[in-house]
Amino acid sequence: MDFDLFVIGGGSGGVRAARISAGHGARVGVAEARFWGGTCVNVGCVPKKFMVMAAEYGGAADDARGFGWDIAKGGHDWAALIAAKDKEISRLNGIYRRLLDNAGAKIFDARATFIDAHTLDVGGERITAERILIATGGHPTGLEIPGAEHAVVSDDIFALPEMPRRVAVVGSGYIAVEFAGVFAGLGAETHLIYRQPLPLRGFDADLRAGLAEALEQSGVRQHPGTLPVAITAEGGAKQVQLSDGSVIEVDLVFFATGRAPNTRGLNLGAAGVQTGPKGEIPIGTDFATNVAHIYALGDVTDQVNLTPVATAQGHALADSLFGNKPRGVSLANVPSAVFSIPPIASVGITEDQAPAGAKIFVSKFTPMRHTISGRARKTLMKLIVDADTDKLLGAHMLGEDAPEIMQGLAVAIIAGATKADFDRTIGIHPTAAEEFVTMRTQTRVAGALAAAE
Ligand code: FAD
Repeated sequence: MDFDLFVIGGGSGGVRAARISAGHGARVGVAEARFWGGTCVNVGCVPKKFMVMAAEYGGAADDARGFGWDIAKGGHDWAALIAAKDKEISRLNGIYRRLLDNAGAKIFDARATFIDAHTLDVGGERITAERILIATGGHPTGLEIPGAEHAVVSDDIFALPEMPRRVAVVGSGYIAVEFAGVFAGLGAETHLIYRQPLPLRGFDADLRAGLAEALEQSGVRQHPGTLPVAITAEGGAKQVQLSDGSVIEVDLVFFATGRAPNTRGLNLGAAGVQTGPKGEIPIGTDFATNVAHIYALGDVTDQVNLTPVATAQGHALADSLFGNKPRGVSLANVPSAVFSIPPIASVGITEDQAPAGAKIFVSKFTPMRHTISGRARKTLMKLIVDADTDKLLGAHMLGEDAPEIMQGLAVAIIAGATKADFDRTIGIHPTAAEEFVTMRTQTRVAGALAAAE
């Protein structure tokens, strides 16, 4: 065999697995068809966060006036933002490639497909490997409606030549609400069209309601309970026909309606690897597919589609195979954030998922900054506590710095902290975060809201 491990996909999970395996002394090859670093670095987390930051600066300029600054916001230069973002991303591409090179992995800038269970076609070259890892990630999917060709998906959004003045974002998952915040923050007339009554299905209900309110306050025009049924284009403008009979005219229609695993075109059949209904690859706790020496991890498995999950899995697989440290990765209590404006962050279960009788603590307040900035914006915090064990089951926040705060709370929850531990922790004053250790009065018990309805 040419390699001990061949990794298909140079994204978050694949790069980590290849690098650590090579570090353990394995002979590793890795193929990347498009861009080193994968989705997160090129068309995901990283460029997305730069864009959110750009939008936040506009809001900060407005808020500064309340603090005495004589600031005129002026205009935003979209091309300058894209150029700055591209420069940083090409630096990161280089870093990812170098990391692999330095670790001793053999790099292939090519697409890989299966010939049989131990043989791959890598850009026309025939390569054999003892073990193969599929870390091919996913791709954005749009809606199949008449005129869908006039819409773009998230892969396109990072390279738009100019800033659209009017945008319709379709969907209400995290990518949809994040980009609604970006476009509204950069000054576009922004519509958010979604099927659910509230955005962010699956998140805690109070956060969803709070976010809908915050989006409204930032000028995002929401169309809940609505679907686009057709798109027509005339000149640069697009008319989006909605299921409620109305029509909106915009310059850009952005389908943020979901993602699907990248398994088509891999010729998985030749290796006997099975896929599920969405094309995802089911795996065991050891990351093995139904074929014992072929592994899969990250978004292609469609479990918890986040970069830190893919990298943790890649690391665990490398340690298990070549580092003499076999281990899996727990997907319980994975913290996550939504970089909406303001952001959301959560760890653990939601109030809807809480066992009946669990103690619910909620706090909603105007953060200190906005008592002076004049901006109407609330921060919302919630703790969910087991009534029997006093252990924290969930923590949720909508408000500035929520993702930064939640990372620490996630450690506490993973470590099994109780509400009494939170109560005896001294706050850091003056912060919003101190509210999490000073919530003394129980708001309700889980199930009370549903019972009252
Ligand atoms: P990927 O990073 O997608 O890497 C897969 C790689 O495989 C790709 O580079 C692809 O080109 C390559 N490939 C595919 N097929 C082949 C083949 N046959 N041969 C060779 N190469 C191939 N996650 C977060 O944690 N935080 C965030 O804030 C966040 N924001 C996001 C924003 C957006 C807009 C998007 C789309 C995603 C975001 N994510 C975020 C999710 C995150 O990007 C993914 O969870 C992560 O990239 C998954 O890593 P992966 O290794 O499984 O796949």
